[in-house]
Amino acid sequence: AETDSLSPVVSDVLDPTDLECSLCMRLFYEPVTTPCGHTFCLQCLERCLDHNPKCPLCKEELSEYLVQRQYCKTVLMENLISKYLPSELMERQKIQQEEMAELSNLNKNVPIFVCTMAFPTVPCPLHIFEPCYRLMIRRCIETGTNCFGMCLGDNLKGFADYGCLLEIRDVKFFSDGRSVVDTIGRRRFKVIQHKERDGYNTADIEYLEDVKLAREEGWSRYRELPEAVITQRCVCVSMCQKERIEGHFGPMPEKDSELQACPNGPSWCWWLLAVLPLEGRAQLPFLALTSLKDRLSGIRKVLLFMAQSKHR
Ligand SMILES: [Zn+2]
Ligand SMILES: [Zn+2]
Repeated sequence: AETDSLSPVVSDVLDPTDLECSLCMRLFYEPVTTPCGHTFCLQCLERCLDHNPKCPLCKEELSEYLVQRQYCKTVLMENLISKYLPSELMERQKIQQEEMAELSNLNKNVPIFVCTMAFPTVPCPLHIFEPCYRLMIRRCIETGTNCFGMCLGDNLKGFADYGCLLEIRDVKFFSDGRSVVDTIGRRRFKVIQHKERDGYNTADIEYLEDVKLAREEGWSRYRELPEAVITQRCVCVSMCQKERIEGHFGPMPEKDSELQACPNGPSWCWWLLAVLPLEGRAQLPFLALTSLKDRLSGIRKVLLFMAQSKHR
């Protein structure tokens, strides 16, 4: 009742621009107030802190605030907005939902991390420190897709035409804003168009799957590839190397009884590609192949070549 009696007064003195974020110049969305008393949209503040851990208005040091990651929503501000600017708030929420829907699309404008080779089913731990990638990872989590594309860099195009969709399994944040992101490879894709958004690369992509063959004749020699690696010791695995490899990529996956059970082919095939001492440029064509047979025979050739050059 008390707030109701205040209403006319509040609406008289309330200027909608008082409820605008000084960073995006729009009505506050999920407003948070810093220890220095300045209010911003949560997402706007986070983007600023990616670059510099200081208040965007008064330059107060906010490192401690950043470490705690406890952004308290400014409830009073939210209540004021929903009470006195309901239609503006609805418009603002609509824009926000449209942005989220756009960011959730895993075919168009998909965020691309340009760094290394990644393969389906193989773990890919990442160290994030660049502001643009902090934003990218945060968005992947906010939208709930938890996914982004990983591509190898390319001098001409910026990034390669083939890549692997990674799914975030865990993120650890550090006090200085860095984070370690634990991801695993999901699907392979072909880049249809190279794009950009807010300082990071994006792409329109098309997913790749192996073409399933009715018969697996003459494939028996490929089934033995995992053993071949171990017995020929092509991947020259000393104990210490083995630990390093397994620490990064996990242990070699079990052999599947059916080679074509999954549209990506057997996991051990990707694991082998990841651990073989091949350069990214040499690994890339394997990602693009949609013939399991070609992929397996390619790996076999690499192994034979390595065995021969060892005997020389
Ligand atoms: Zn804002
Ligand atoms: Zn401030």
